[in-house]
Amino acid sequence: MEQMKENKVEINICLLPKEITEDGIVSTDKEGNDRRFKADSVVVCRGFVADRNLTDALKEKIKEVRPIGDCVESRLIYEAIHEGWVAANEI
Ligand SMILES: Cc1cc2nc3c(=O)[nH]c(=O)nc-3n(C[C@H](O)[C@H](O)[C@H](O)COP(=O)(O)OP(=O)(O)OC[C@H]3O[C@@H](n4cnc5c(N)ncnc54)[C@H](O)[C@@H]3O)c2cc1C
Repeated sequence: MEQMKENKVEINICLLPKEITEDGIVSTDKEGNDRRFKADSVVVCRGFVADRNLTDALKEKIKEVRPIGDCVESRLIYEAIHEGWVAANEI
């Protein structure tokens, strides 16, 4: 954040991306107004949410389901590998 301030990076929050255009992006603010920003690149950086649809569907049909990895919670790959190893050893 300090480096961003030093380099005079403008921070805009509470905007909903609406359209990526030839020369930037159009976003809508909380009041519903469109705001245009010029940009060479647009970087999408959102959080991750675990997808439990398959786990939930299987739990309805199979007695024992062992969810591992990102369907439990979005994390790093070593945790998925470790949980797979633990589950395989327990079976
Ligand atoms: C952009 C990005 C960058 C990442 N970078 C890193 C990194 O640098 N280092 C790191 O450690 N981790 C990183 N991760 C996290 C890492 O990829 C995950 O933690 C890891 O892949 C989880 O493994 P998984 O087997 O649980 O899920 P996945 O690797 O997502 O595997 C799940 C598989 O199930 C399949 N599938 C889903 N639904 C169904 C269905 N209904 N029927 C059949 N198959 C289905 C999918 O197609 C997929 O092949 C990154 C993740 C992302 C998204």
